[in-house]
Amino acid sequence: MSDPVHQLRAVLSKYWGYDSFRPLQLETMQAVLAGRDSLVVLPTGGGKSLCYQAPAMCQEGTAVIVSPLISLMKDQVDAARACGIPASLLNSSLNISERREVLQELKAGKIKLLYVAPERLTPSGLLTDLSQTKLSFIAIDEAHCVSQWGHDFRPHYRELYRLREGFPDVSLHAFTATATERVRLDVIEQLQLKQPEILIGNFDRPNLTYRAENKSEVVSQIDDVIRRHEGESGIVYAITRKEVDRLSETLKYMGHKVRPYHAGLTDKERKDNQEAFIDDRVTTIIATVAFGMGIDKSDVRYVVHAAMPQSLEHYQQESGRAGRDGLEAECCLFFGGDDVMMWKHILGDKEPEQYRHAMASLNKIADYCRVSICRHQALVKHFGQELDADCGSACDICLNEREEVDESLVLGQKILSSVYRQQQRFGVEYTAQVLKGSNEARIVQNGHEKLSTWG
Ligand code: ADP
Ligand code: ZN
Repeated sequence: MSDPVHQLRAVLSKYWGYDSFRPLQLETMQAVLAGRDSLVVLPTGGGKSLCYQAPAMCQEGTAVIVSPLISLMKDQVDAARACGIPASLLNSSLNISERREVLQELKAGKIKLLYVAPERLTPSGLLTDLSQTKLSFIAIDEAHCVSQWGHDFRPHYRELYRLREGFPDVSLHAFTATATERVRLDVIEQLQLKQPEILIGNFDRPNLTYRAENKSEVVSQIDDVIRRHEGESGIVYAITRKEVDRLSETLKYMGHKVRPYHAGLTDKERKDNQEAFIDDRVTTIIATVAFGMGIDKSDVRYVVHAAMPQSLEHYQQESGRAGRDGLEAECCLFFGGDDVMMWKHILGDKEPEQYRHAMASLNKIADYCRVSICRHQALVKHFGQELDADCGSACDICLNEREEVDESLVLGQKILSSVYRQQQRFGVEYTAQVLKGSNEARIVQNGHEKLSTWG
């Protein structure tokens, strides 16, 4: 066999027409070819798919790719076939005869890349079929789904340890775009990776400009962002379906070309709205987090969060959908005290340990919103990395856009003093009203208009 690097280069050029590797692609592909288990964390747009597609073309046998989303799988198979790679998929979208056909091709050794849904990998199902096939390796895409500490835990992923048991001699390769140290360790443990090669890419996205602003008039704040990007594509995320509907109606009324997207719409509505966005018939999608995974639109110029997301992992992934073409794009996060309350309410039915974890994640993103350190620096730090220098000009902090308050020490003292005099029993909104000197009924009922901090 010729030198693996040479072989990989030839495949890259023959099937994709690319002449160089993106950062860590070569190292990742070499681990695959060497049959060494690996865990690879590369940011969105980093080129993960090639990391398993190219080695699959250099080896005998079929590479199995476990992927969580049916829509994503189909796109990947179509894209691979368009490059001349024999790829197929097995998931619940196939009927019996289509399924039989794929299995026959598999047995005949005609498939180089087989995408499968995790729920198919049961002992009575696909595991048996695969045991009669020559496998080159197994790749697990979106591997963070295996960990309950990740932001997108999927119970079916938990069953994937069966792959290690069923195929002890086939190497396993876990890929994800987002994983904190804890999630990485959990992925290794859950999948029973054997002394894996761990490759972690650079998390910074220098072409994105990050801003985080207090919510005042959120609709007009969003309106400003959309106007800055006249005619360009963008995504606005909101927490609830109700808020998505409210924002879409208001922004539409204001003359913007927007469409909503959330789980309460019919499949057809969702599909139509998504296609209108991809084909540039509308500029802006207003969505819950249900939107985005597997959507390959590289020219998204802005991602707005109309409220604080539930964790920095979510934020990194959602904001990361901006600027995948490498050109400049903007990410604006509008936050308010009520967002934390909203998340506490939504996450309230989790098991105690998971609830604690969710609250810790919530606090981290709330800190991110408030602190005055370079946002690029803060984001990569969350993923265990550090930049040599602050971004300088690609975040609100470095651009000096944040309003500074005069005499912040005295102001802080006044706030704490009011909290103390209110017997530490009232929240942010209430305290702000007292400090501003409101005559609201509840304040008068509590006698708080008589406090020295009132007004
Ligand atoms: P990810 O899954 O990590 O988000 P993809 O695998 O979808 O990223 O790759 C993002 C884009 O980059 C795709 O359009 C892909 O064809 C392109 N790409 C990947 N590797 C290379 C490379 N070595 N040279 C040029 N383009 C590449
Ligand atoms: Zn900065």
